[in-house]
Amino acid sequence: MKKSIITIDGPAGSGKSTVARILAEKLKFLYLDTGAMYRAVALYFIKNNLNYQNELENLKSILENINISFHHDPDQSLVKLNGKIVESEIRTPEVTELASPLSALPEVRTRLISMQREIGKNKNLVCEGRDMGTVVFPHAALKIFLVAQVDQRVKRRLLDLQKKGIPTDFAKLKKQMEIRDYRDSHRNLSPLKPADDAVEVDTTSLSIQQVVNKIMQLFEKNLGKTQ
Ligand code: C5P
Repeated sequence: MKKSIITIDGPAGSGKSTVARILAEKLKFLYLDTGAMYRAVALYFIKNNLNYQNELENLKSILENINISFHHDPDQSLVKLNGKIVESEIRTPEVTELASPLSALPEVRTRLISMQREIGKNKNLVCEGRDMGTVVFPHAALKIFLVAQVDQRVKRRLLDLQKKGIPTDFAKLKKQMEIRDYRDSHRNLSPLKPADDAVEVDTTSLSIQQVVNKIMQLFEKNLGKTQ
């Protein structure tokens, strides 16, 4: 049977991870968090005291030492860096800050995009990131682009960080998020933008369940068209 891919792209705090995870579980598809992969690369640089600006010449060989994989169990998908689960280590503000500039480097993108395509090969997949529908899986069955007003996105991220016991404040987080979104949307390679055939969903005033239902409906309608 033909495999289906659903791509979910959008800026930070738009709801991608939560929604993609629930959808994958509902549909029994593999879930792929590509942001976690860029974060794992950032964590490697931090752990090895590497300043990427001084290492531009050596990027290729550094990347050869980075192996990223996922540990899947029934209710979660955990990212592994060189065999070790680093799911909580990659969620710190320091890693968040570094992942964005690193992800604009051509060597990093080329390496991770080929890993992502390999992971998705011959699979039913729900993947989330910035360039899933535009670059990585341009033939996906359904492409979703999530958006939400910035204050709402900051509130969601603040709550996530508070749950993890990481103190931060609204204004600081908003500034950081705006800088990151601007950088992600204005880089030359794989900028954050909707694919021409993506469906945009504004999640500002929708519950998670409402977003999931909407995407499920779109997917079922889409399946009807392609069968
Ligand atoms: O989605 P998340 O916030 O975990 O992503 C971390 C960073 O990784 C983003 O700010 C972005 O710079 C980068 N990223 C990317 N392409 C993707 C996924 C994430 O450039 N497909």
